[in-house]
Amino acid sequence: MADGDLGEFMDVSAGTARPVIRYGAAVLHRPCAWVDSFDTGLEALVEDMFASMYAADGVGLAANQIGTSLRVFVYDCPDASGESRAGHVINPVLTTIGAVAPPMIGPEACLSVPGQQAEVSRAAVATVTGTDVCGRPVTVTGTGLLARCLQHETDHLGGIVYVDLLPAGERAAILAAAGLPGRHRRGGLDRSRLGRQAVGEDRLFP
Ligand SMILES: [Zn+2]
Repeated sequence: MADGDLGEFMDVSAGTARPVIRYGAAVLHRPCAWVDSFDTGLEALVEDMFASMYAADGVGLAANQIGTSLRVFVYDCPDASGESRAGHVINPVLTTIGAVAPPMIGPEACLSVPGQQAEVSRAAVATVTGTDVCGRPVTVTGTGLLARCLQHETDHLGGIVYVDLLPAGERAAILAAAGLPGRHRRGGLDRSRLGRQAVGEDRLFP
């Protein structure tokens, strides 16, 4: 497979669009597992991800955004020249970012935080390495919006949504505008509680 190709074997119209999961659901806020089974189930997942991304009119999608906690993303996104690039990456790792150009600050949005956007600083050039669904090595280098997309999607697979990169007040305002709860309000991760447990207060003062 050449850099960023969809792959001649893959029928991207074969997948089933699934609902995109919104910020606050636990699956978006924990790291995804590395893929170690390159089977037909993985190919079906990638097909569903393309279908879901196109149905939602997105330029990229991470597997946990449709509820599957595996390190996989898909993209169909223009680079800085305006050329559209499409592909998928299994087990992506950002290998080089920001080495050749100053960071770019621009609007960023996410299907999991619908209707909102914010200014986010990203490296202007990004390279991701990983494999295709057959386990063959893939390298994708992107500029412009594609560079932003590669960083955004790799962040998703680490449990980071772009609003997590913003100051707390700005994040809270965006989530409120989207009608979404913060990630710490559903009882799953309460930092103050974790802090008490870390110093043993729960045992001292049960
Ligand atoms: Zn996103």
